[in-house]
Amino acid sequence: MIIEDNAQAIGAEWNGQKTGSLGDAAGFSFYPGKNLGALGDGGAVTTNDDRLAATIRSLANYGSNKKYINDFKGMNSRLDELQAAFLSVKLKYLDADNQKRREIARFYLENITHPEITLPAIPASATVFGSHVWHLFVIRTAHRDKLQQYLTEQGIQTLIHYPVPPHRQQAYREYRNLPLPVTEKIHHEVLSLPMSPVLTIEEAETVVNALNRFKTDS
Ligand SMILES: *Cc1c(COP(=O)(O)O)cnc(C)c1O
Repeated sequence: MIIEDNAQAIGAEWNGQKTGSLGDAAGFSFYPGKNLGALGDGGAVTTNDDRLAATIRSLANYGSNKKYINDFKGMNSRLDELQAAFLSVKLKYLDADNQKRREIARFYLENITHPEITLPAIPASATVFGSHVWHLFVIRTAHRDKLQQYLTEQGIQTLIHYPVPPHRQQAYREYRNLPLPVTEKIHHEVLSLPMSPVLTIEEAETVVNALNRFKTDS
């Protein structure tokens, strides 16, 4: 069974097919900061399997199909109707918003030229301007902390997705001693640049200019 985490990929395609329809089931997040965000928390599961759909529906409703009868140890994870109403309006704008993200991504990819900054690699199967939805635009550099501080001083907010890898979290301490050198290296190097459908090209240009002026030795 393949379960997709589609939380950052709503609207994306892989070989012409929408993500969220590639596996047996997929999880979507409507957290406000996501590409399709509610005005509060929300999420959804997609599947073509009727039995699985019935079980998931039940799990989200205390494991119950029939009032006060519980078939599973479930939870309360229903999408409330107000959020569903906001989302059905916002869904109409998803493709256009994702297109704006692509324009920002294209601008970053074509204009960030700093030799010590690695730009996201685009697999040949996912043309930048076609199928990627750029929830985040993540660059890498060995000078990450210094670069973040420099950008903050220039009035440019960046975030780190994510600062601590799962096997270094207290919650997964049983995996603490796994040798995962690539994971650990990446967690020291990643930096997410401003990315949003409401970012203007002028604002992206300010980011690019600041990045290209960054001095690693000062
Ligand atoms: C946001 C996110 C989640 C969690 O979504 P919630 O709606 O907060 O439960 C899971 N996986 C990825 C990749 C995410 O970006």
